[in-house]
Amino acid sequence: PPPPPPPHIVIIPTPGMGHLIPLAEFARRLTHLHHDNISITFTTLSSSSNKAEQTILSSLPPSITSLTLPPPSLSDLPSDLKIESLISLSLSRSLPSLRNVISSLPNVSAIVVDLFGTDAFDVAEEFNIPKYIFFPSTAMTLSLFKHLLDLDRSVSCEYRDLPDPVRLPGCVPLRGSDLLDPVQDRTNDAYKWVLHHTKRYAVADGIFLNSFEDLEPGPIRALTEPGSKPTVYPIGPLVRTGGSEDSTGCLEWLDRQPSGSVLFVCFGSGGTLSLDQLTELAVGLEMSGQRFLWVVKSPSKVSNSSFFSAATSDDPMGFLPEGFVERTKGRGMMVPSWAPQSQVLAHTSTGGFVSHCGWNSTLESVVYGVPLIVWPLYAEQKMNAVNLIEGAKIAIRPTAGEDGVVRREEVSRIVKALMEGEEGMGVRSRVKELQERAKKALSEGGSSCKALSEVALKLRQNNNNHNNNSVA
Ligand code: UDP
Repeated sequence: PPPPPPPHIVIIPTPGMGHLIPLAEFARRLTHLHHDNISITFTTLSSSSNKAEQTILSSLPPSITSLTLPPPSLSDLPSDLKIESLISLSLSRSLPSLRNVISSLPNVSAIVVDLFGTDAFDVAEEFNIPKYIFFPSTAMTLSLFKHLLDLDRSVSCEYRDLPDPVRLPGCVPLRGSDLLDPVQDRTNDAYKWVLHHTKRYAVADGIFLNSFEDLEPGPIRALTEPGSKPTVYPIGPLVRTGGSEDSTGCLEWLDRQPSGSVLFVCFGSGGTLSLDQLTELAVGLEMSGQRFLWVVKSPSKVSNSSFFSAATSDDPMGFLPEGFVERTKGRGMMVPSWAPQSQVLAHTSTGGFVSHCGWNSTLESVVYGVPLIVWPLYAEQKMNAVNLIEGAKIAIRPTAGEDGVVRREEVSRIVKALMEGEEGMGVRSRVKELQERAKKALSEGGSSCKALSEVALKLRQNNNNHNNNSVA
């Protein structure tokens, strides 16, 4: 008989740059490793108004087919809906169009969704297709997701009111108040959505985790214990490599700065600060006397106001303190809304990173060996910050005032501590060590490279079974 056609994988990221970027990298890695042996349809749900998203999609290799489902109607939803609910509803309301896509493709041998995409399992089950989760966050968060139903049953108060820390297998103890945002209000729909997804994790055929053993040894060991279901494949760190043209001029600016001298300040695609915090940060950066490159967004009362657009609508520069741009000229560069972050972190002039601790940003920092100042804002970023400070020990933390604002003196102190202090030296040497280990994990024979090969093998086996069943 003729050999079966190569496996065809449908990859479906839910809205958000932090989901799109690593899944695009996963797709690229799979096709790169296994050339003609895997074909991929990359199916997105979201908005063409997001320029950053278009750049990622247009840089997918030609062997990957990319298509966008028609936008579902969301106009009936309340305006204060949390992002996790909005993401989940975007997907669940797109199921009819996803069903059309899957039924029009010959021989789909697996679907891959991300952490909030489990409703696509309905379609996979209808067509009898194996279903996988790509988990774009930490092993610690995955471990929490695996235990959330138990916690939900055993705890009656809000998690932030728990007297004792939450202990997850292999993880550093976590204060209830550090758990991810959407579980902080158990009456909110966002919590119900998270619980709904985590219940469905149990029926996944496997989970691809964007982390690696040396970064999270304890939690990964616990998640990959023999017999654990579903199988977890630690395949990270998969980060955006290469880049597009830089329209901001910041890479050229970096070319002119001394090696390791620039602090990069960026709060991800979604992160926004209050006006008060924006001002304190600006003045603190100025006081520190250090060089900096800052991706500035317009201030907002909510900390994730640019999550779906990756950009803010007003001119963010207009919110900086008067005279700030002139006074920091030559030493500081500001870029509105979006910079080519992975290229910035890869640049030899970059020596530190003030980050909201989104997991992709964190992994990029590890891959390029840049130590961090943690500035968590939303989602699971507080948990990630704990991981970086107490687990990997590659970051330092500023202290906020009682009102939650980090004042200018503290900004200046922590920036100097990272860029020229002893504390900075310690975290810098550890992140360089981890950078080497990340390289090793991804190179031939390394743990993540082996795990990714196992994933590819599994996808091919599914495909053969699927074809045999179809013949029978
Ligand atoms: N990013 C970027 N330029 C920016 C801000 C973010 O290229 O100005 C990229 C960043 O490199 C990372 C992703 O967007 O790959 C953000 O993902 P992360 O998980 O760090 O945070 P999120 O945006 O999901 O909160």
